[in-house]
Amino acid sequence: MQSDIEIAQAAHPWPITKVAAAAGFQPEEVLPYGRQKAKLERTTPVQPDHFGKLVLVTSINPTPAGEGKSTVAVGLADAMHQAGHETMLALREPSLGPVMGLKGGATGGGYSQVLPMEDINLHFTGDFHALTVAQNTLVALVDNSIYQGNPFNLDPRQVVIKRVLDVNDRSLRHVVTGLGGRTSGVPQEGSFEITAASEMMAILTLATDLSDLKRRINRIVVGYTYDQTPVTVAELGVGGAIATLLKDAILPNLVQTIAHTPALVHGGPFANIAQGTNSIQATQLALQQADYTVTEAGFGADLGGEKFLDVKTPLLGKHPDAIVVVATVRALKMHGGLAKDQLDHEDLAALQRGLANLGRHVHSMKRYGVPVVVAVNRFTNDTDAELQLVVEYARQLEVPAYPADVWGHGGAGAQALAAGVVKATDQPADFTPLYAPDADLLTKLQRIVTEIYGGQGVDMAPKAAKQLQQLTDRGWNRLPVIVAKTQYSVTDDANRLGAPTDFKIHIRELVPKLGAGFIVAMAGNILTMPGLPKHPAAEQIKITDDGTIQGLF
Ligand code: ADP
Repeated sequence: MQSDIEIAQAAHPWPITKVAAAAGFQPEEVLPYGRQKAKLERTTPVQPDHFGKLVLVTSINPTPAGEGKSTVAVGLADAMHQAGHETMLALREPSLGPVMGLKGGATGGGYSQVLPMEDINLHFTGDFHALTVAQNTLVALVDNSIYQGNPFNLDPRQVVIKRVLDVNDRSLRHVVTGLGGRTSGVPQEGSFEITAASEMMAILTLATDLSDLKRRINRIVVGYTYDQTPVTVAELGVGGAIATLLKDAILPNLVQTIAHTPALVHGGPFANIAQGTNSIQATQLALQQADYTVTEAGFGADLGGEKFLDVKTPLLGKHPDAIVVVATVRALKMHGGLAKDQLDHEDLAALQRGLANLGRHVHSMKRYGVPVVVAVNRFTNDTDAELQLVVEYARQLEVPAYPADVWGHGGAGAQALAAGVVKATDQPADFTPLYAPDADLLTKLQRIVTEIYGGQGVDMAPKAAKQLQQLTDRGWNRLPVIVAKTQYSVTDDANRLGAPTDFKIHIRELVPKLGAGFIVAMAGNILTMPGLPKHPAAEQIKITDDGTIQGLF
């Protein structure tokens, strides 16, 4: 069996100018980066009246068995495109940290991939590097201000903006900088985050245009003074320099699938600590250009799905016309109690138990008033009886379900799914937001936990309760909220699979991200700088003397 990279290398991609022309972009809008990638510079303002239909792909709670959300998004878009619908993908860019760490890229898999997968999974068009430099420049400017007499009275112990790197490097979680004497800065405790978890990434992907990007950068709170007054980038006067570093990174990237479906791959914020969706600009561009845009949101419907609908949708100016919930028989069997090494044989009883997790997410997505479709991402060992059980369960929930083999057959494996999704987008949607935009933080949190996770409510730790009071005093209590919790469970305990209801979410800390424009509610210990596993994927990756990359999935 061929690996993902072998399939990708055997494909015949078009020159990117041909992809752009077929997608209706004007030559002057296309800035090629080599032969198969381009940045797109929009020459006309956004016209929401001309937006096509939007399909959001989300999933059940991920398990180590894999769900294949990106793979299904790509295969679905190919199938829609091949059926004659003008379709465009809007996906996230992979972070190099996970690429070198755990096996699994973010460019799809099998015959449903975006190309050139090596480039997209590695340095791509340099957006992550630009973001890394932008954020690190800002931190250097803050440190320099403290060193040069500290005119803003910043408390070095309360500098909240962090350095970033797009590398999984656990040794950088806690560092001391500024050692080495009087001329080498002011000693400070600090920490690095991975670029995908940075505020700069959240900002770039939520900004509606360059002027919004500047506004958001200027709003970033870099730290607090000795008397607890926030200090912003605007006060430091360096917002212009930081925005300048992002002038190209803000432009969406155009690539293509194996089947030549145009794909805008832009921005890659994580779905726990940030909103987990690709950029507003890329999604809007796709919506404006194509009749159907297929996009995805990170992790399960409880994390990326909820954030797409509650945080991104209001800024996007467009709600999804259909939501696809991806499930696999394997992952559902894990939710039903099987271990990872027990998934290769038919087990209808375990599957039946695990279906509750699918039910939870179908229920929570239906509550937004948008038609929901279940996509069963077919793996080789799935039996017909197992697939039928999932389809039958979905029918009881009054949603259509379609098994699809996009991994083995690309778009040809998802014809029924594509037809079902197109049909769903034709149904009337009555989008019902989860909360009023100006509701207070606690109300928003309660709604997320009770209506989306299916739990009993929130418990605020004393530290979080105190921070809530501070946020309220500063007038930040009505911003959107991003819950940072484990992706494996609807609860904040990674080991509780299935669909429990007898739980509360424990909020440990509230972290304001004023530039991004949201408050992060930390439930449990979420690492913003991942570590590498004992055998990182990097051990498999090779490059031949003629420059061919091997072992990248
Ligand atoms: P997600 O978006 O949910 O993180 P991906 O689509 O990136 O998942 O898929 C993760 C990995 O699983 C990829 O390496 C992909 O090749 C593999 N994969 C996805 N679907 C299938 C399938 N049906 N059969 C076998 N492998 C699959």
